[in-house]
Amino acid sequence: MTGFEQDLPDVETTIIWGRHLGARLQRGDLVVLTGDLGAGKTTLTRGIGEGLGVRGAVSSPTFVLAREHPSVSGGPALMHVDAYRLNGPQEIDDLDLPVEDCVTIVEWGENRVEHLAESRLHIALGPDGDGRRATIQGVGPRWTDATIADLAIDA
Ligand code: ADP
Ligand code: MG
Repeated sequence: MTGFEQDLPDVETTIIWGRHLGARLQRGDLVVLTGDLGAGKTTLTRGIGEGLGVRGAVSSPTFVLAREHPSVSGGPALMHVDAYRLNGPQEIDDLDLPVEDCVTIVEWGENRVEHLAESRLHIALGPDGDGRRATIQGVGPRWTDATIADLAIDA
């Protein structure tokens, strides 16, 4: 396991960091987002969608549990999941998420979706003054010191 902390002093930085992540995420990657309501999970996902180059505005998936945003450039789609109302691995499995074919980002994913992939990027967002701070941890063979270090930006 390897990781780092990322300062996100304002919304713009969160979007810029999301774009940076989106440009580096690959088909099959699973990102598990943690943080209270308003922590910035959806804002970060919006930036990741921009970095991946996917179609459709990323918003809070309030009425849908999972929304797929296809790529506009032949890259992987973004599967944006809100697991808040899902309890237990069975309800997650019932979604039949095509994790191997997409970049999958799960808000409220901690302790719900770990069984879906051997490698995972865990991002915990929390308050830091007027802004936010993210704690990033990579689990599994996909995330090495090098692939994790490449995810940080100066902020
Ligand atoms: P979540 O999906 O975790 O509930 P949202 O991304 O929907 O959170 O909302 C985050 C809220 O916090 C927005 O109203 C945004 O303007 C505000 N905010 C303040 N600072 C930041 C920051 N650094 N990054 C993201 N959002 C921020
Ligand atoms: Mg949200």
